[in-house]
Amino acid sequence: KAGQMQATPLSIPSILSFAERAHGRREIVSRLVDEPLWRYDFAGLGLRARKAAQALQRLGVNAGDTVSSLAWNTHRHLELFYAVPGLGAVLHTANPRLHDEQIVYTLEHADSTILLFDRNLLPLVQRIAPQLRRIKTFVMLTDIERHDGGGLDALCYEALIAAESGVHAWPSFDENAGAILCYTSGTTGHPKGVLYSHRAIVLHAMAESLASAFGFTAFDVIMPCSSLYHATAWGLPFATLICGAKFVLPGDRMDAASLHELIVSEGVTFTGGVPTIWTAYLNWLEKHGATPGALKRLTIGGSAVPRVMAETFHARYGVEVLQIWGMTETCPLGVVATPTPSLAARGDEQMRDIIWTRQGRLQFGIEIRCVDESGNEVPQDGVSSGALQVRGPWVVQRYYLRDEDATDRDGWFDTGDVATLDEDGFLRITDRKKDVIKSGGEWISSIDLENVAAGCPGVKFAGVIGVPHPKWDERPVLVIEALPDAALTRDAVLAFMAPRVARWWLPDDVVFADVPLTATGKIDKKLLRERYSSLARD
Ligand code: ADP
Repeated sequence: KAGQMQATPLSIPSILSFAERAHGRREIVSRLVDEPLWRYDFAGLGLRARKAAQALQRLGVNAGDTVSSLAWNTHRHLELFYAVPGLGAVLHTANPRLHDEQIVYTLEHADSTILLFDRNLLPLVQRIAPQLRRIKTFVMLTDIERHDGGGLDALCYEALIAAESGVHAWPSFDENAGAILCYTSGTTGHPKGVLYSHRAIVLHAMAESLASAFGFTAFDVIMPCSSLYHATAWGLPFATLICGAKFVLPGDRMDAASLHELIVSEGVTFTGGVPTIWTAYLNWLEKHGATPGALKRLTIGGSAVPRVMAETFHARYGVEVLQIWGMTETCPLGVVATPTPSLAARGDEQMRDIIWTRQGRLQFGIEIRCVDESGNEVPQDGVSSGALQVRGPWVVQRYYLRDEDATDRDGWFDTGDVATLDEDGFLRITDRKKDVIKSGGEWISSIDLENVAAGCPGVKFAGVIGVPHPKWDERPVLVIEALPDAALTRDAVLAFMAPRVARWWLPDDVVFADVPLTATGKIDKKLLRERYSSLARD
């Protein structure tokens, strides 16, 4: 028998309409590139998103079209997150930190005809404009006073908005329609497009708001320090409106001093981003003898969270770190490390040890399994590791414009990560497949080694790579970027690590150098390998 309930589509405009009605006065604060701090509320967002939608329609955008942005974490970019999908069109959030040719590739591949960009990205846009054959209209996200067509005849976003009435009804469309298009960083080959549907975005935002995940309430003040263009900043632009929390957008400045200023002045209770941002923030807090205001929870993911980072935030500042694992292909939330009664029953110390050393626990809506080379699931014992596969309503089915599914026949998507799952449903990533180190027929986890090295006082960033070795196939080499005033030596680092790792895991060498970061702020292992893989020893 068919169920007899309403088949209302899950859609992004329905989030906005709800937020305006339920929490219309809830505040949004936005730091802009070179304009004063902007403040308005959910009702203001609704009005301006409708005006933006009208303006885009006037520029010829129809349902099914793609519109691209090259923009930071600002309220104007947030408005596009609602205006473009609200029209049934697709917002492609291009990543300004990719190489020029990759940005051009994604804009061409996405088939956009309109590009909206932040003012300080004008030089980038001017540089790549001659190669953008499809883009017909450029729009600068700026106010009328500071607008500058930049030789591109770019239109001014605020002028476009000012000309509209804001009286606009969102059309209805299928919940499986494409809404936001994000590209992976393309560390191997071209970036691949993942087209999130309205349904995936809404379900993902509801799931991440649960107490088992981020646990949002209307009392929270949420600041995304992961970029809006990178997997929608973990869906926070949607979860925040659903939960009625205050939203703080940090613009393009993710350095410690700039973040601290907003954390304290706006009363931020929840923020998150990749570990490199928080390494810098911890160092800054210590140097300035400062404390992070009302901050209670910090979600960190994108690469492994060093245990020492979670411990320091907790012990020194009373901030709980929630590690998450996810990827562009999963919208991006996969698992989140939050407590359970069975962990709590083991006492605070053991509970924290588990929470601080695992990527997170299973969440309803995303199925997870680890399989061996023949595709059989490995035991869920916390020790047996295997290829990590995922499946569910916010997992990619097929990359954008490809003719084949990205999953196997049963819908499992292989993440490229290697992991273990334990009886309590906690996942631990041991490596990316392409980063694993095979030494004498056994695996060494580069993530575990980095984690231990990061705990050595004076270490800012630690990256471990496998370098070819005539006898053992590969051996680990550790690259360390030290804090400016640290007097670290190879022997001191190895002496710190020796009691903490198996003897044969100890790196063969320690290199002191700048550690390069990727376009998404992670340690760039590919570049480290290019630079240091000739360090083979015998
Ligand atoms: P990109 O490769 O574009 O930076 P993603 O954000 O999609 O983009 O990267 C996803 C990958 O990041 C995962 O497959 C995994 O290897 C790594 N990752 C994400 N979160 C964690 C984590 N908490 N611990 C270890 N690795 C992580």
